[in-house]
Amino acid sequence: MTDSTKTLCPYCGVGCGLEVSPPAQPGKPVNRDSQGYPTWKVQGDRAHPSSQGMVCVKGATIAESLNKDRLLYPMMRESLDRPFQRVTWEEALNAIVNRIQTVRFTQGPEAICMYGSGQFQTEDYYIAQKLLKGCLGTNNFDANSRLCMSSAVAGYIQSFGADGPPCCYDDLDLTDCAFLIGTNTAECHPIIFNRLRKHHKKNNGKVKMIVVDPRRTTTAEAADLHLAIQPGTDIDLLNGIAHLLLRWGYINSEFIDECTSGFPAYADVIRQYPPELVARKCGIKVDELEMAARYWGESKRVLSMWSMGVNQSSEGTAKVRTIINLHLMTGQIGNPGAGPFSLTGQPNAMGGREAGGLAHLLPGYRVVKNAVHRAEIEQFWGLPAGRISAAPGLSVWEMITGLEAGQVGFLWVAATNPAVSMPDLERTKKALWRSPFTVYQDAYYPTETANYAHVLLPAAQWSEKTGVMTNSERRITLCSAFREAPGEARADWEIFAEVGRRLGFTEQFKFANSAEVYAEFVQLTRKRPCDMTGVSHERLATEGPQQWPCPDRSSSAESQSQRLYTDFRFHTPDGRARFGAYHSRGLAEPPDPDYPFVLTIGRLYGHWHTQTRTGRIEKIRQMHPNPFIEIHPRDAGKLGIQEDTWVEVRSRRGMARFPAKVTEAIAPGTVFVPMHWGALWAENAEANALTHPEACPDSLEPELKACAVKLVPI
Ligand code: SF4
Repeated sequence: MTDSTKTLCPYCGVGCGLEVSPPAQPGKPVNRDSQGYPTWKVQGDRAHPSSQGMVCVKGATIAESLNKDRLLYPMMRESLDRPFQRVTWEEALNAIVNRIQTVRFTQGPEAICMYGSGQFQTEDYYIAQKLLKGCLGTNNFDANSRLCMSSAVAGYIQSFGADGPPCCYDDLDLTDCAFLIGTNTAECHPIIFNRLRKHHKKNNGKVKMIVVDPRRTTTAEAADLHLAIQPGTDIDLLNGIAHLLLRWGYINSEFIDECTSGFPAYADVIRQYPPELVARKCGIKVDELEMAARYWGESKRVLSMWSMGVNQSSEGTAKVRTIINLHLMTGQIGNPGAGPFSLTGQPNAMGGREAGGLAHLLPGYRVVKNAVHRAEIEQFWGLPAGRISAAPGLSVWEMITGLEAGQVGFLWVAATNPAVSMPDLERTKKALWRSPFTVYQDAYYPTETANYAHVLLPAAQWSEKTGVMTNSERRITLCSAFREAPGEARADWEIFAEVGRRLGFTEQFKFANSAEVYAEFVQLTRKRPCDMTGVSHERLATEGPQQWPCPDRSSSAESQSQRLYTDFRFHTPDGRARFGAYHSRGLAEPPDPDYPFVLTIGRLYGHWHTQTRTGRIEKIRQMHPNPFIEIHPRDAGKLGIQEDTWVEVRSRRGMARFPAKVTEAIAPGTVFVPMHWGALWAENAEANALTHPEACPDSLEPELKACAVKLVPI
């Protein structure tokens, strides 16, 4: 193969276009990785509308991860204390099907669980929903998006009547005021940040940037105003800004009257947040709070952006809705440069939402609780009425507690690494160890979660299978295969479909290729908020990426709506967006005399999640060789901690050890640890050994961002 292939970066939700060409090109030296091995050349796709040729270090080095430590063939073992033996696909699939049938008829379908991933392509997600929720009749499919952006999903649904970020990346060039809360965009969504930063610099003084974060991150350093609030006081801050906007008359009464509901109850709440009280609770100055409110009030176009700092919270949905409230009271939505923009963590978490890839969802932005939605899907899938359960399935943490209680008889984990990424990791590992039968399907081996599997299935990954992904601005890109999968690896959707056929659902899984899977899926989006019936593999291949809504074949990219709600009508029954009035509840586990520090965890620029790929890329390993703990000099001084002193960090659940980085970038009383290191990469450096599973009651997203810890220098 000498031609280049256009595709999408498979790391984060920015969704940058890539152009990939083979190592050997006529007349050119062979392209080699940092260790000298021939490797595919990856560069930004200048024609991709979302990224215009830009890529960060992760996208640029992705090819180096493709051939290292791959899981090449199925393996099985009778128990977790025995070694794996290589088996054929036939043997592995028979074991899986037998186990599913046994569990189905002895414990019931609700004892069958699958935990998937925002790394899935939409076709993988869709076939998994059809198998679990349709054919097997259990809604126990959850994805690692539960740990990432399920609060944003719940917030959008509650405020607007439907999920879906209303904004687009062009808004980054058009805003007067960027309000970034709970997002280290510069490191975690670097290409979005580059674009925003360029606009901010070009319009020096005219365009404002506010960053809300307890850490002085690279993002915060670029801001006009950095509000280093106390962890857990986001709602106080947001209500305090709203209080001042109301007091100063910076509200859009016409928009509130004609396009929203619930404002009076909200106004009653925000009147209880005077600046002096809010500043004291948040640990900022009244001047700073007033400046933030003034920037909001005086800007014609405010674009707020958030990610895990907001979503991973025991009040995550309330935080999301409280951000949206500010947009509703000022009418800052549906117009260029304005709106509440959730930055998605994973490359295809958006596609997962579209395909119904959480335990309470069905394809096409439907929900399992809605009888009409269930009936529509059952009919379309050719299944008997009543097959889809009306009860939301288990969230991933509920799968863990289900394992503890002996209620889970079959667990299938694919393209994710819960033995590093779940909260309260020792408890998670103990529960995984108790699983009577776990299938682990991944591209790589070893991983931490493979230790808890009875069956290992080799998955083809990005570059080896064709499918689509949707990025944060609702843009759908075809990711074409451009190389053979190694060994016996197969695409995730093909494995799910094969199991479905062997279970007797031959009609439901008659697909020759992923284009047919996608063609079936988009029919379920017809006349839904995420209508993409005008999108197909063939169209994406010939016309390039498309943004939804894209309702029929004739809608061209130009005529599609870049933004949602441009007519100010929402998906609620009365067409009005809803205010949600919330008081702050604070952290689920605040610091106390025994555990006096707040630990916050997060990502670094180069690494991705649990390092399954990036830990195998030399350049990134050199960039971030070791984990560490950030601690303020004042706290370090009191504890006798100096730069590089090893610190034992203890929470009520576990312990980890890190060398100290003494820095004023972290607020006193708070410490920071990166979340990337699992047991495979370092000893006792797992951030999630410390975190707790207390979750938002609406989104069930755990509060991974904050827990109480104590520090002991060692
Ligand atoms: Fe990939 Fe995200 Fe980097 Fe873009 S910003 S190259 S999508 S990791």
